Parts: sequence; structure tokens; C-alpha cells
Amino acid sequence: MSADIPYKDALSIAALIREREISALEATEAFLARIEEVEPRVHAYINLAAERARDSAAGIDRMLQKGQALLQHRYAGVPIAIKDVLSTKGFTTTCGSRILENFVPVYDATAVERVSEAGTVMLGKANMDEFAMGSSTENSYFGPTSNPWDLERVPGGSSGGSAAAVAAGEAPWALGSDTGGSIRQPAALCGIVGMKPTYGLVSRYGLVAFASSLDQVGPMTLNVPDCAALLGVIAGHDPRDSTSIQQPPMDYLGSLSSEVRGMKAGVVRELSSEGIEPGVLDSFKRAVEVLEGLGVSCEEVSLPSFSYGLSAYYLIAPAEASSNLARFDGVRYGFRTDAEVDDIWEMYDRTRAEGFGPEVKRRIMLGTYALSAGYYDAYYAQAQKIRTLIVRDYGRAWESYDVLVSPTSPSVAFRLGEKTADPLSMYLSDICTIPVNLAGIPALSLPCGLSEGLPVGFQVMGPPLAEQKLLDIAYALEQALGFDALPPVASAGEVA
Ligand code: GLN
Repeated sequence: MSADIPYKDALSIAALIREREISALEATEAFLARIEEVEPRVHAYINLAAERARDSAAGIDRMLQKGQALLQHRYAGVPIAIKDVLSTKGFTTTCGSRILENFVPVYDATAVERVSEAGTVMLGKANMDEFAMGSSTENSYFGPTSNPWDLERVPGGSSGGSAAAVAAGEAPWALGSDTGGSIRQPAALCGIVGMKPTYGLVSRYGLVAFASSLDQVGPMTLNVPDCAALLGVIAGHDPRDSTSIQQPPMDYLGSLSSEVRGMKAGVVRELSSEGIEPGVLDSFKRAVEVLEGLGVSCEEVSLPSFSYGLSAYYLIAPAEASSNLARFDGVRYGFRTDAEVDDIWEMYDRTRAEGFGPEVKRRIMLGTYALSAGYYDAYYAQAQKIRTLIVRDYGRAWESYDVLVSPTSPSVAFRLGEKTADPLSMYLSDICTIPVNLAGIPALSLPCGLSEGLPVGFQVMGPPLAEQKLLDIAYALEQALGFDALPPVASAGEVA
């Protein structure tokens, strides 16, 4: 029985546990066994929480045996992977960085608290690019993650560990974070569903800050209903995050409907022409036809400011990062240099020089430069103006369209090492996802087919707080496309 559990979606696992067909502990054991089998090849996790997971699963079983109400524990016993950028009380939280290698937080992030209140069982902390900076998970201090579809390729990033864990059957669902595409792009490259919610819908309390005006926590799942379910768990107001929206709780899963006839979708010209791989474009266009078949009218729309999105992002995100990462100084958190130092300034210098990896240093330098007195107006202020133009372009689009669509990533999963020497080509991986973060709107990626045997992602973007509409369209499309391919790592006796 338990051998079949990995690759069941989270809602099915929840139902099996609720109906007492399997115990919570059996579910956890099934995933731990799967992890043992494939993790040496995939490396989706930085730290596994096996014992802790067994304990909490056993606790849930005791609760179930006593017949305790499951009302507030909607997903009792369902395992989950948590991106290692989310603070977990009493459990190491590294952000993929040497500087936090041994850092154990004293509190849970709100999103972590909420998934745990829903009864889920954390299997471990998922691998990621250091401080969520990257598009391939190769910037992790703990080594890269492999794509379960082709172990020689990247899973995308920065939430590559979360995406690979779900795609490899090492967790039925996961939490990721998305600053410029880090949920959607790895979801696309690993053939799963990933959603970046509206800025402020999910609390950032306990999400280690990269670029605070862009960061959002979101679900990474096998299918759209699981995505709706997990979003319903983590969304909602939190007084501990001053940017949290005063929004009454929503039942995204209960409201999920594939009735989308009559909706209007704009196909973003700037994100679906030049620079997109032909195979990706083919798959995307076929999915647009399927969407039309469902009664959604689709037409091309131009959002001219999008051409500047990447440039604006690579000023704004590093600017915010340079300020946010100032707190890692060898005094307050984690790692401190062992070197003999003359004074505290040298201690700071050495700690940061040894603790941060090259991409993080690059971002800190870029950001510090963009914010410095003589350059602020020329760079940071210009980038903020572009951000406003992007917000306006979207605003105009919502007058005519319910949603906008594009490919999620310009390419399928690329080879490990292919882009590490060229940061600019790596930055291009997020060309389709970045405008969404700059505008603070929600967007979702779902698999729409294969190109060269690798998954292609379809992105649906909507106005602020249009999560339900995005989920509905994605649900309808998911059913019509019937994408159910599994990565080769899923089959027995595969690749050595
Ligand atoms: N790849 C982008 C970057 O490196 C986005 C990262 C993210 O969304 N966290 O900044």
C-alpha cells in the first residue's frame, strides 16, 4: 500500500488519512522511504526532519484515534516540504547559505505556523539558491539540486528544491517563495503547479527577506486543486506583517470551478515572441488553442513597458537585498569567521566575505551602487519609474482582459553549469515572471506539455486578488490538457 503513496496528490493523501485507510505515520514513512531512494540523485533537501516528522505524524495518529475533530486540521498527516528560506522554530534554517549554516530560529514563519496548524507534517527544508538569488538552485552553498526529468539539468530556482521534491515524489506539496519568479520558473521546469499570490495576501513574517517589496510565499503542488487548498491554508491577514492585506479568509478549493466560458485572455506579445525557445512557444500556443476551445477568447496584447522589466528588477531587487542582508554580520545570526581579527570591522568583513557566496556578493554590490548618493536618481529612481509604468500597463490590460497569459520560462530546463559563468543569461530566465512581482499581482504556472522531453510551463496572470479566477482557468486548462507525464526518476531502476 505505502509504495503507492508518493505521487498521490496531497488532497488524496488527506482523504486516505481522514478515512483511516492509512495512518499519518504510514504516509510520512512512505515519503521518507521515497526520499531515501531518490534523494542521492536529486538532492532536493538541505536538511531532512525525519525524526521530527515521525513524531508529529504519530501525534496526529493519536489525535485521530481519540476521534478529535479535524476541523482545524484540514490536512492532518499530509507531509510537506518547506523551502529553507522560511523560519522554522527549533529547526535549522539556512537560506542555502554558509552564513546561516547552523542557524536555528526561535519562531515559526506565519506560513509555516499555518501549514502546521492545518495538520501537515514537515519532511524537511528544501534546497534553494542562496538567499533566493538565482534561477537554477546552483547558487546553494549545499550544492545543486537535479531536475527529476533529467538529472544533468537544473530544476530552476530559486525554489528548485521544493519543485524537485514534488516532481520526484519526495513530497506531495511544498512551500516556495517568489521574488522574481522563484516559484513559477522552477514549477515550470519541473512540470508542476506553482503560484505567486498577490503581494500581501500571504504573510512574509518569518520569510527571510530578499527584496521585501517583491517577496511572496506560495504553494508548489502536483495539480491545481492542491494549489487552491494550500493557498487557502497560508493566505489571510497577519498582524505581524505590516504589508499584510486585510482580507477575509477565502475557500479557494471549495469555490474551484472549471466554468470559464466567456472569459477573456490577453496573450502578452512581449513575453511570447523573441527570445522564447521554439519548442516552448509551440507548446504554449497549443495550450492557448485549448483555452480557446474552452470558450476563453484569446487575443494578442502589447504591454510595451515589459521590455524594461528585467532591468528595473535587477536594480530594485539588489537595492533592497543590500539593505536586508546588512543584518548578517557575525553578531546576530549564525556564522562568524574563525580568523584572527584586529577589530570588529575586520570581523564583519571577514564574516561576510567567507559567509556569502559570489551571487549574493554581486547583488549586494549592485544594490549598494544603485543606492549610492551620486547614482540613486540615475538607477534606483529610474527603475521605480519603470515599475510604475508596468503597473499602469497591467492596469490598462485589466480593462479589457480577465487574465493575461504567457510562457512561464523562455526555455525548458537547461544543463547544470550551462549558465553559471554568465549571470546575465541566468537573469534572462525570469524575463516572463518578473513583471508580475514588480506589479504585486498574482500569477500561476501550470505544465502545458513537453518540449524535447522536458516540461513547459504556462503562466496565467491576473489583477490583484484574482487568485480564484487564476485557479479556475488553470483548473479548466489542466483538465483539458490532461498533462500527467511523470519524470523518468519516478520509474523503477532508472538512471544510475
Ligand atoms: N531569479 C531571480 C533572481 O535571481 C528571482 C529570484 C526569486 O524569485 N527569488 O533574483
